[in-house]
Amino acid sequence: MNTTIQKNEVLNLFSSTQVVIKEALNHLGYPEEMYELLKEPLRMLTVRIPVKMDNGSTKIFTGYRAQHNDAVGPTKGGIRFHPHVDEDEVKALSMWMSLKCGIVSLPYGGGKGGIVCDPRNMSQMELERLSRGYVRAISQIVGPTKDIPAPDVYTNSQIMAWMVDEYSRLREYDSPGFITGKPLVLGGSHGREKATALGVTICIEEAAKKKGIELKGAKVVIQGFGNAGSFLAKMMNDAGAIVIGISDAHGALYDQNGLDIEYLLDRRDSFGTVTTLFNETISNEELLKLECDILVPAAISNQITAENANDINAKIVVEAANGPTTWEATKILSDKGILLVPDVLASAGGVTVSYFEWVQNNQGYYWSEEEVLQKLNKVLIESFNQVYELAESRNVNMRLAAYMVGVRMMAEASRYRGWV
Ligand code: GLU
Repeated sequence: MNTTIQKNEVLNLFSSTQVVIKEALNHLGYPEEMYELLKEPLRMLTVRIPVKMDNGSTKIFTGYRAQHNDAVGPTKGGIRFHPHVDEDEVKALSMWMSLKCGIVSLPYGGGKGGIVCDPRNMSQMELERLSRGYVRAISQIVGPTKDIPAPDVYTNSQIMAWMVDEYSRLREYDSPGFITGKPLVLGGSHGREKATALGVTICIEEAAKKKGIELKGAKVVIQGFGNAGSFLAKMMNDAGAIVIGISDAHGALYDQNGLDIEYLLDRRDSFGTVTTLFNETISNEELLKLECDILVPAAISNQITAENANDINAKIVVEAANGPTTWEATKILSDKGILLVPDVLASAGGVTVSYFEWVQNNQGYYWSEEEVLQKLNKVLIESFNQVYELAESRNVNMRLAAYMVGVRMMAEASRYRGWV
């Protein structure tokens, strides 16, 4: 493949999302104007946040909040803290949130936020000041009935707690519905922390059924050992699957007979690093090529591209990360007969339980963990099968089918409102 094309394919997540949205709208018969409306977020706010650092200096951080489409309801989506966050990434992620919400039929559009920072090199006090500063900077465009943030890469329930506290102070009333992913004592929901991994697990179970694979004894490879990846490794292990490979940002571990997941979970640090404790590691590239039944990219985007898609040796690929497989690679995997469960479906468990959290906050009545998980199970099984059946009946790959389901509600709501 021509290197320029490949570079574009790898580098531009935003435009490749637009390509698939366009194709989905074409399949559904919407006019070009609908694509013009949905191809970019309706709103994109860039803010500069001054933060007093522990050494007395002031550092100015850049933050973003994108709101893709609010025809269905308020926008919803996480806030990521990462040194490589940029405008295009936040825009693409807000569009994915719209699709996720559409796929699991939540009354939301998509939003996303990000701050360019490296939380690994910041103290708790600095992180608190940054989190509060960000909320002050975006407070005009967010709120329980406008745009509801949540955790994402390198943000957690503590950060949500600072943010809800800052928002409630600004508004002068307690506003638990402003943000989700909060600690339980501040109005968080049971099941929220493991919801993303649980959603991926449900998708794995459903995909395995379609492929006639028994989960007990199935060989599983997981790229990434952060929040989603580590919970998932545990769930797969508990289900009797054999996790033969895992990785973090520094490298990967592989054992044909199965890794000791309990031990690895015990030793991993709060950023998901564990491979640095071992002498014998393989690279992340090698990990992806391992022969297995189920491959779960749960780390970062653009991992399976046109360059390595032909080397993928799995029967099922379930995307727990956002955008790990490019559109070109999706088509190659699909031609090879690999069942790919796309990110917008597989990782929708998190936002689904976030929705349950918001509903509980709004009604002030809280559910048991069992109730939450039962509801999550039902939503994801139905959503998986809806996408799978559409893919079969329209003879399209699962990503395109998921985009078609995901975009439909938003397009219909925009049409009814008379926007297009
Ligand atoms: N950050 C998560 C996601 O990308 C969760 C968003 C939410 O709970 O609103 O799906």
